[in-house]
Amino acid sequence: MGIQGWMRVEVLTVGRELLIGKTVNTNAHWIGGRLARMGTRLSRITTVDDDLREISSSVRESLRRKPEFMVVVGGLGPTPDDMTLAGIAKGLHRRLALNGEALRMVRDHYVEMGRGDLKLTSARRKMARLPLGATPLKNTVGTAPGVRLEARGTIIFALPGVPREMKSVFRRSPEGEIRQRLGRLHTRTVILKLERIFESTLAPILKRTMKRYPNVYIKSHPKGVEEGVSKIELDVVVVSKRRADSTKISEMIASELKREVARAGGTVLSTR
Ligand code: ATP
Repeated sequence: MGIQGWMRVEVLTVGRELLIGKTVNTNAHWIGGRLARMGTRLSRITTVDDDLREISSSVRESLRRKPEFMVVVGGLGPTPDDMTLAGIAKGLHRRLALNGEALRMVRDHYVEMGRGDLKLTSARRKMARLPLGATPLKNTVGTAPGVRLEARGTIIFALPGVPREMKSVFRRSPEGEIRQRLGRLHTRTVILKLERIFESTLAPILKRTMKRYPNVYIKSHPKGVEEGVSKIELDVVVVSKRRADSTKISEMIASELKREVARAGGTVLSTR
């Protein structure tokens, strides 16, 4: 663990469309925001091509960093370019095997769509071929089930790429498990809007604050210069086991920063 309460979670998004300017990676963006609101954050987002070697080596590299959770998104469908599960299996040196529960989920989905007549062709069975030791996660929106497995101390979730399906599977399974692992942590974010101070002037002030509060995350976002006035937005994030503590600490930091910014000739416009 790095900063208190922030465990390591990595996202691996798979799909050429994400690399060639065809699709904006809204899935990674959504997961990042969701985790931040839950009181943790992504430590890394990796995006790779629909390529077995790229997927398997990324999985291995990620596992070497020993994240608590890894969320792999995309490439679970029936077409040949969907090779995420094969890539994960290769990365873990596991076989892919037909999973009976996953096959039932695929079949049930066609039945629910009124297409129970559809044969379970090899393309459709492919969505139920999971790395050994994996369990399927129900996808109530689309056909391909999500997948959960554990490897080298990391819990890996594979989610479908279609954003609506990804969100639905994420909310049903990974979210609960991540929350449980986090325990009851409270996150308090205070946003300070500063004016008339350069980031370079702010830097030593932030350095001192971060030294005094090592478990607090402070991020400065320069907003440019408008009508000759420099503007900066500061995110101050406090994670604590007790709500009262995170509120108290964030208020203390906010008032300290206000004082110091004023002393350096800047102004704090608003806090929220
Ligand atoms: P399914 O089996 O449900 O079809 P899949 O896992 O095979 O899903 P992909 O083929 O990887 O999904 O992606 C389907 C579509 O979802 C892509 O064409 C793209 O439009 C969208 N998509 C995939 N990944 C992302 C992403 N990271 N962010 C936003 N959209 C994405």
